[in-house]
Amino acid sequence: SSALASELVVRGFRDVPDFPEPGVVFKDITPLLADPAAFGALARVLADLALAAGAGAVAGIEARGFMFAAPAAERAGVGFWPVRKAGKLPPPVLRRDYDLEYGSASLEVAASAVRPGAKVLVVDDVLATGGTARAACELLEEAGAEVVGLVVLLELAFLGGREVLGERAVVALHTQT
Ligand code: AMP
Repeated sequence: SSALASELVVRGFRDVPDFPEPGVVFKDITPLLADPAAFGALARVLADLALAAGAGAVAGIEARGFMFAAPAAERAGVGFWPVRKAGKLPPPVLRRDYDLEYGSASLEVAASAVRPGAKVLVVDDVLATGGTARAACELLEEAGAEVVGLVVLLELAFLGGREVLGERAVVALHTQT
């Protein structure tokens, strides 16, 4: 159930104040990954969301998105597409540059993985300002895929990430207000 998923996220995440820099509360998923019952249950929830959305693939955003997207894709019986930080994947890649609070970053996906017209569910651990998730969705859409939704374990709603994702369907297993 969604109440159980929310509870598993609350119990599995650890707050680390002032990491990686002062003023940031880092949401550490390590305890959740180490608990096989919770990890498996959440992978199943994500797989069911992928199937319900009609997704033919699950994309995970490097690095912590991989840890949930990959088992979800396997359980759903669909492919896993890694969306990586620039310079990690061999060519040919498709790339999307995006702005950060200070500076910019890039995401890449293997051109051979993305099937034009494929329906893909995008997964990440935390939705903060939404810049990363938006860039991942735009990259996949530019590559010709249809993003059927974004699922995150934890949404930090006070950072407004949902608003930058436009009309895309956003599901958070737990929302912190
Ligand atoms: P944003 O682009 O601001 O939405 O940031 C989202 C990305 O940064 C995700 O890939 C998260 O893994 C990571 N992230 C942002 N804020 C946090 C946080 N407080 N704790 C853990 N990861 C975070």
